[in-house]
Order: sequence, then C-alpha cells, then structure tokens
Amino acid sequence: MSALDGKTAVVTGGSKGIGRAIAASFAAQGAAVVVTSRSADRAKDAAAEIQDEGGEAIGRAADVADYDAMEQLIAATVTEYGRLDVMVNNAGMTVIEPATTFDPDDWRRVIDVDLTGVFFGSQLAARQMIDQGNGGAILNISSMMGKMGLARRAAYCAAKGGVDNLTRTLAVEWAPYDISVNALAPGYIHTDITDQTQDSAGYTEDDIRKRTPMERFGTPEEMAECATFLVSGTNFVTGEVLTADGGWTADAWRYEEDRR
Ligand code: NAP
Repeated sequence: MSALDGKTAVVTGGSKGIGRAIAASFAAQGAAVVVTSRSADRAKDAAAEIQDEGGEAIGRAADVADYDAMEQLIAATVTEYGRLDVMVNNAGMTVIEPATTFDPDDWRRVIDVDLTGVFFGSQLAARQMIDQGNGGAILNISSMMGKMGLARRAAYCAAKGGVDNLTRTLAVEWAPYDISVNALAPGYIHTDITDQTQDSAGYTEDDIRKRTPMERFGTPEEMAECATFLVSGTNFVTGEVLTADGGWTADAWRYEEDRR
C-alpha cells in the first residue's frame, strides 16, 4: 500500500508540465487528485487523461492569485472527496525583462502567482487540515533560482527565494498540527515554461545541457518522484527545500570540458 493510498491531493497548475506529472503520479499511487489550471477545460482534460490511466481525478479552474477562487477550490475538494490531505502549490510563471525596465504590472503578476499564490494555497489548505485534526502535507514548487540570482528574472528569483523562506516559516508554525511544509527546487526541466522562454532566455538547450553536471534536462516524472517523498508524511522532514537540479547549484565551475 502506498503512503498516498486513500488520500486527497490538490495540485495547482496540474494541467501540464511538472504539475501534470505530479498529479498523475499521485493518482497512480491511490490518491484522489484535484487538478487545477486557469482554464476549466484544460484542468478537466488533464483530469480525464488521469482517469483514462485508471486514477481518480477531477479538474477545476482556479487562478492561484485569486483568493476567492482558491477558497472555492478547497471547498469544492472537500465537497467532492470529504477531506484534503496533500496540497501542492505548483502553478508558476515567469517574465524575462531587465530589472531597470521591468514593467510594474509584470512584477506584480509574477509575485502574485509565484509567491502570493503559494501563500493563499498553503493558508487555505492548512486551515482545512487543522479542522480535520490529523495532519497533512504541503509542498511548494520553488526553483533553484530561489537561491541564485539570474539576470532579467528579478521577479521570479525574488518570488522563489520568498517561497523557500515562506516554506520554513509555515513549517515551524504548523508542525504542532502534524502538517509538513516542504519545497522542491527543480533545475531545468523540459516543459512549456522552458520551451516558451527559450527565445528570450539568451541561451540554448545545448547551453543548459553543458552547464548541468548530469548533462541533461530533468523530467517532470523525476520531479514527481521527489514530490512523493516530500508529501508521504512518514519521514520527519519539514521546512526543507529539496534541490533537484542535476548538480547545477553544486557546481562552482560552468565549463563541461573541465569536469572530466
Ligand atoms: P508549465 O509547463 O508552464 O505549467 C504551468 C502550470 O501552471 C500549467 O498547468 C498552467 O496552467 C498553470 N498556471 C499558470 N499560471 C497559473 C495561475 N495563475 N493559476 C493557476 N494555474 C496557473 O510550467 P512547469 O515548468 O511545469 O512549472 C511548474 C512549476 O515548476 C512552476 O512553479 C515553475 O516556476 C517551477 N519550475 C519549473 C522549472 C522548469 O525548468 N520547468 C524549473 C524550476 C521551477 P494554465 O496555463 O492552463 O493556467
């Protein structure tokens, strides 16, 4: 029996990419999963695919930056499945602009989605878990950019750094309720975010492979494996930021020819 068997999980931004892989993996391990997206159709399509694979899932629209929508999402989850055991705050976005000309609306949007959205999801999930009285697990999807600076990603790096320390703070606050709060900090993973930012990023896929000691991108399925460990609730881990980046942040030197 899996640690997720019979549990209910919400995965924000579960319609594609890392969130989609986490949702599918949790469902395959016996969890009922609520998949979200800004679009009801995209969320429902992802849920239907998980059902086709034999899992239990429903899809709902909810913008993570919209408090009322997130409140309705948690209420709908409890109406459908009776409880909430695992909350994955995964939805995220980025904007690439020089700091000196970073558009204020872009700044606010990235912080709203990538940081405030994580807080809203965590707060609402913890309230429900505390009411239920038997613990739970919250997982925030950060980034290795939470602990490094990257030019032209001021808002993204600030938001992800914020997620890391928010994770520690909430972990301390909710530990007495047996709610674990952890973060997963991926390196470069092949998804739409990396594909869409390729043109404006200033580097190629080959550059990423060369800069990564493991010499490849990570996969959403590998992130799902890390996520399972962090939400399984059987390991005394809380307030931790697990980096899964193929060695990127461990490597002080960036040229592949000097590694061998
Ligand atoms: P992705 O493929 O672009 O997927 C993003 C997901 O978030 C989609 O399901 C999208 O659905 C949803 N979403 C976006 N804005 C939303 C909002 N305001 N409210 C609700 N849902 C929203 O991205 P990904 O690469 O899987 O990224 C997932 C997370 O991993 C993000 O937090 C990202 O920062 C982090 N991450 C990714 C990488 C990487 O290399 N890919 C590296 C480090 C960290 P809709 O578009 O249908 O709304």
